[in-house]
Amino acid sequence: MKRKVAILGATGAVGQRFIQLLQGHPWFEIEVLAASERSAGKKYREACNWILESEMPAEIGEMHVVNTNVKSVEEAGNIDFVFSALPSETAGPVEEEFAREYPVFSKASANRLKEDVPLLIPEVNPEHLGLLKIQKKKRGWNGFISTDPNCSTIQLAITLKPLMQFSLKKVIVSTMQALSGAGFPGVPSLSIIDNVVPYISGEEEKLELETLKILGRFDGDKILSANIQISASCNRVNVKDGHMECVFAELEKKPSIEEVKEAFKNFKGEPQRLNLPSAPKNPIVVREEKDRPQPRFDRDEGKGMSVVVGRIREDQVLTVKYLCLGHNTIRGAAGAGLLSAELAAKKGYL
Ligand code: NAP
Repeated sequence: MKRKVAILGATGAVGQRFIQLLQGHPWFEIEVLAASERSAGKKYREACNWILESEMPAEIGEMHVVNTNVKSVEEAGNIDFVFSALPSETAGPVEEEFAREYPVFSKASANRLKEDVPLLIPEVNPEHLGLLKIQKKKRGWNGFISTDPNCSTIQLAITLKPLMQFSLKKVIVSTMQALSGAGFPGVPSLSIIDNVVPYISGEEEKLELETLKILGRFDGDKILSANIQISASCNRVNVKDGHMECVFAELEKKPSIEEVKEAFKNFKGEPQRLNLPSAPKNPIVVREEKDRPQPRFDRDEGKGMSVVVGRIREDQVLTVKYLCLGHNTIRGAAGAGLLSAELAAKKGYL
């Protein structure tokens, strides 16, 4: 039997991706859609401004959206767990309320840096799921909260993980982030047409802090932050989907460019070994052309779940530099949530 799921924030940019990616999912099915008071009580097709190119599934359009609290969700259906795509300002207490009874997989930043909450990328730190036992015991919950990192952090961390074998010391990253990363309606059109906005509130701090937790070591009790220096600078650009990042890394062992490429190409994780439904065959795809990756051509690689890396070359100041590209609402959001839930299910946490 498939596990039944409620999506919180179901009408938003990430909520819509969850709905799209859950169509025909072999393990999970949608039971309840929740959003704000503005949408509650309406049919999904009336409440939602659908922004994806694929059609809204007809039966989803007929479902009624409910308020975002445990009582309203329980009245609407029997659920096994929750995907949260809520704005961070509201996610904190709401996710805690749900976690008393249900596993919660969250896309919001509110709980990411809490000591007993996993900040999970299944290919990178699957062992951090071990925090869930500690969290449940400490808080006396039947459920739990597991979080996924920020969209620009996920793709960066996936590319940094295979570089750790070369003693990664420093990272400088400059991002060019897509408009859908700001949700809907997001950035006003007159702010971004013919323009680049060199500021995304809170984004640089998220990249710098979250990456250290993700790449940190779980000692059976807590996460010990990775001993790496990271500096980030973030920009919003006029692209619909797909974040690009220029990454500069210092590697103490000074590998050759060929060794770095091989490390990227050979990188696989638990999702690939376990053959999880949303796992891409290759978490990292290396392009050799001098002008790739590009958002329009490469963001759908591996059904949007692969990170595409290109222009891997020596750096005069640090050791190596490259570009990486990831689909922000798939690998950076709903696809990441699905993969985390699949890993948790396979490991017996659901
Ligand atoms: P969004 O398009 O603005 O959608 C927000 C959703 O939350 C809508 O369904 C909205 O419902 C609901 N909502 C708003 N206020 C609420 C409230 N007070 N109570 C209950 N529900 C409320 O945002 P998004 O881009 O999907 O982002 C969702 C979360 O994912 C955010 O925390 C964001 O930081 C994170 N995230 C986004 C991306 C991305 O690429 N977009 C990537 C990674 C992480 P109504 O329609 O009823 O207002």
